[in-house]
Amino acid sequence: MVASYTQLLARRYGGKLDKDADEFIGYAVDGAARMRELIDDLLAYSRVGMRGGEWSDVSLDEVLERVRQTVGPAAETAGGVLTSEPLPTVRGDPVQFLQLFQNLVMNALKFHGKEPPQVHVSATRGEREWTVSVRDNGIGIAPEFRDRIFVIFQRLHSRAEYPGTGIGLAICRKIVQGHGGRIWVESEPGQGSIFHFTLPDESESP
Ligand code: ADP
Repeated sequence: MVASYTQLLARRYGGKLDKDADEFIGYAVDGAARMRELIDDLLAYSRVGMRGGEWSDVSLDEVLERVRQTVGPAAETAGGVLTSEPLPTVRGDPVQFLQLFQNLVMNALKFHGKEPPQVHVSATRGEREWTVSVRDNGIGIAPEFRDRIFVIFQRLHSRAEYPGTGIGLAICRKIVQGHGGRIWVESEPGQGSIFHFTLPDESESP
């Protein structure tokens, strides 16, 4: 209601009152849109693990393919590329895995510097777990912020620089921990970032 009516105000009275009124209406419209975005993201955060989605054997290749279909076109228009190596099949909640990959890949595309984004997804097998890595050539993260970014609402930039609510990585951490894994970032400012997460490997050794 707030969003709809402030938009109606803008449409019907924009340019008909005075300059201040236009400015105030603009803030109200932006604020309402932002509130909606925050509520959507908070709901996504609180729902992780609440309804306990069905677990199954999930092909992470298929998950990445779906992410590619969603974010690929936007990435390509920005001159970006998303490449990958074969990924494993692991046990877990397919909806959550999609959310996890989508957040990491979208961040990797979003936080690029002057160069167009190049994002690469790969996986390596350890003794009892897989490590999946999402590498980018973006702005990187200073050492003192590498833990903090996984805490809800922690952002390192203004919304004018890079849009967002600061909830994405908190969702990723909740999903990975719910699957018995860990998530961390390896990065240097200006040198890109690599987000790694582990997932238990329950299949027989080759
Ligand atoms: P949002 O993307 O909405 O800001 P996130 O929780 O996804 O929130 O990320 C938190 C913060 O971590 C971001 O605001 C940004 O400062 C930093 N960050 C996340 N991913 C990257 C990345 N790939 N490269 C550089 N910084 C990143």
